[in-house]
Amino acid sequence: MKEKKKAVVVFSGGQDSTTCLFWAKARYDEVIAISFDYGQKHIKELECAKAICKKYEIKHHIMDLNLLNQLAPNSLTRADIAVDKEAPEEGTPNSFVDGRNLLFLSFVAVYAKQQGIHDIITGVSQSDFSGYPDCRDVFIKSLVTTLDLAMDYHFEIITPLMWIDKEETWELADELGVFDLIREETLTCYNGVIGAGCGECPSCKLRQRGLEHYMKRREKK
Ligand code: ZN
Repeated sequence: MKEKKKAVVVFSGGQDSTTCLFWAKARYDEVIAISFDYGQKHIKELECAKAICKKYEIKHHIMDLNLLNQLAPNSLTRADIAVDKEAPEEGTPNSFVDGRNLLFLSFVAVYAKQQGIHDIITGVSQSDFSGYPDCRDVFIKSLVTTLDLAMDYHFEIITPLMWIDKEETWELADELGVFDLIREETLTCYNGVIGAGCGECPSCKLRQRGLEHYMKRREKK
């Protein structure tokens, strides 16, 4: 009997990670979605992730990472810090949480090894990295080496969105047959509005711009 192909997906219920989840579902026999509870201002993010997994019958594991909020208070977790409307000219935006992907991926790797899984899928993108240093390809490559050495176990961190932008991410969702699902059921907005979002925050603007560009091309197809 052929061994079942398994993967874990870092899953927030947003556009990128949901696209990755369905990308994985199309390629693996078994997919486990992993979400983090790190005291997000909008608990809706977790609810949204739960709802998607329930509806599409995907195994879902939620890890408690509230520690992150103690370490690095930021605009995504603290009610008294407003999210920047525009990305700053220099430095990281205030929605950046130092070490977030490092910690998330490390915890996911420990979990994956326990399950005998080697493949970890994450929706980080260098094209749209919004100034987040731990979304870069060089960081992912370096982390794979570190995790392999730390646990004496081979990991693959697979990043389907690394070199594509938001417009192409919409296209990928369309190819996977989940265009409407991503549009209507995911939460990318920093203000917690599902689907089209608030339209004001940097995350909504990025998502909307990509969608508009893709729609123009889609109409011509
Ligand atoms: Zn928004």
